[in-house]
Amino acid sequence: MSDRRALLRTLPAIDRLLGSPLLVKLEQTQPHILIREAAQTIVDDLRRQILDEQATLPDLDLEAVARLVTKQVAEMARPSLRRVINVTGTLLHTNLGRAPLCSDALQAINAIARGYSNLEYDLEKGQRGKRFTHIEELICRLTGGEAATVVNNNAGAVMLALAALAGGRSALVSRGELIEIGGSFRIPDIMAASGVDLVEVGTTNKTHFKDYAEAINSEIALILKVHTSNYRILGFTEAVSGEELASLAHRHSMPVLEDLGSGLLIDLTPYGLPREPTVREVLKTGIDLVTFSGDKLLGGPQAGIIVGKRDVIDKLRKHPMARALRIDKLTLAALEATLRLYLDPQQALAQIPTLKMLALPASELQRRCDALLPKLTVSIGDAVDCTIIAATATVGGGALPLAELPGWVIALAPKTMSVNTLVTRLRHSQPPVIGRVQDNQFLIDPRTLNNDDEALLLQAMRQVLNQD
Ligand SMILES: *Cc1c(COP(=O)(O)O)cnc(C)c1O
Repeated sequence: MSDRRALLRTLPAIDRLLGSPLLVKLEQTQPHILIREAAQTIVDDLRRQILDEQATLPDLDLEAVARLVTKQVAEMARPSLRRVINVTGTLLHTNLGRAPLCSDALQAINAIARGYSNLEYDLEKGQRGKRFTHIEELICRLTGGEAATVVNNNAGAVMLALAALAGGRSALVSRGELIEIGGSFRIPDIMAASGVDLVEVGTTNKTHFKDYAEAINSEIALILKVHTSNYRILGFTEAVSGEELASLAHRHSMPVLEDLGSGLLIDLTPYGLPREPTVREVLKTGIDLVTFSGDKLLGGPQAGIIVGKRDVIDKLRKHPMARALRIDKLTLAALEATLRLYLDPQQALAQIPTLKMLALPASELQRRCDALLPKLTVSIGDAVDCTIIAATATVGGGALPLAELPGWVIALAPKTMSVNTLVTRLRHSQPPVIGRVQDNQFLIDPRTLNNDDEALLLQAMRQVLNQD
């Protein structure tokens, strides 16, 4: 022990370390504050290792320590928010940023971000304008709504609508729709936070028209309908249609709000997805207001889109929460560009990554696997067994829970390490690779693998499998 303690004196002092040639050179490219902090961290680490009888003694040579600091600085200087390669096959992975944007959206962001814009300036009149005017007409054209507005995300859209239409009063919700979406979006909590009292009607599996009708009294300001995006109640079930709810609500001079979650602008049944009403079809039932996300099946940026009757939308715009939830100009630019593609559904399907990936037929995925397999075999064939197997992908993001997208994946069984080690190393590679494991194999689903990322994937695979 005393030998080890004596060694502490040979640890370089921070200032001496900072004066070493390697770190003096590093100062030219990296902020001093990072280098100093890294030096402190490394010296503290070395001190711990020295005092730990079990640990092997570290190399305390000044240059060796400076090299450790350089490595630490490189890690600290790396952006925290980074791109990753998604081979999970889950199209809208909320943890991985949901929808990748189309190139029109990227161009729009670039153009608007680098300079000034008419964000809130009316170029016709030469006076102050409103930011939502840039997409209101477009949303109405695509959905048949009278008016529209957008906020930060769909959770915000629901909160704003509840607060503006029923704040301080009550709203009816079916017990079958009291859902949790994930994170902290739970309908009862969102209602409470909006200042709306929840009045539950019906049962978990069945809610009838009369359940709503009998619950209406002077305290009720709104009927809320919620899309059960991420689960289904199957079997002996009943829910009340939009038409019936709208007629009941209107008879009592109150609006119906439907939280659609994902919201579809075009019918996706030709691509094997379950039938879901489009936003246009929902509005046709007479529902006053619908809300949906920009970054779920729509395939755009994070946003909450609100569309419906003009007088109802006007109430939302006047509510103070509208300002707190407002959409920023980059999102607005990306959303407008994405929505424009929907004016021609063929363009939307050809350009929007989420829709393109969704529509990929199994035969195309098999072709991609056939093309990727020999490249993997050449790169890492010594370290893994690769086979092509049938597998289904999911939509994710709490949308279409029952949809299974049939396809093909490459299954890797590592020979030199456990599959868990492989997964961990891929997560730490540059860029990180995120996939799924099934039966002790790492699956590479080509559906969510961008063509341009193939070379990076191969490189990451080589790197992690050649480590010992
Ligand atoms: C996803 C979802 C939300 C939340 O939308 P965000 O855009 O993530 O805020 C709300 N309601 C339903 C039904 C959803 O599916």
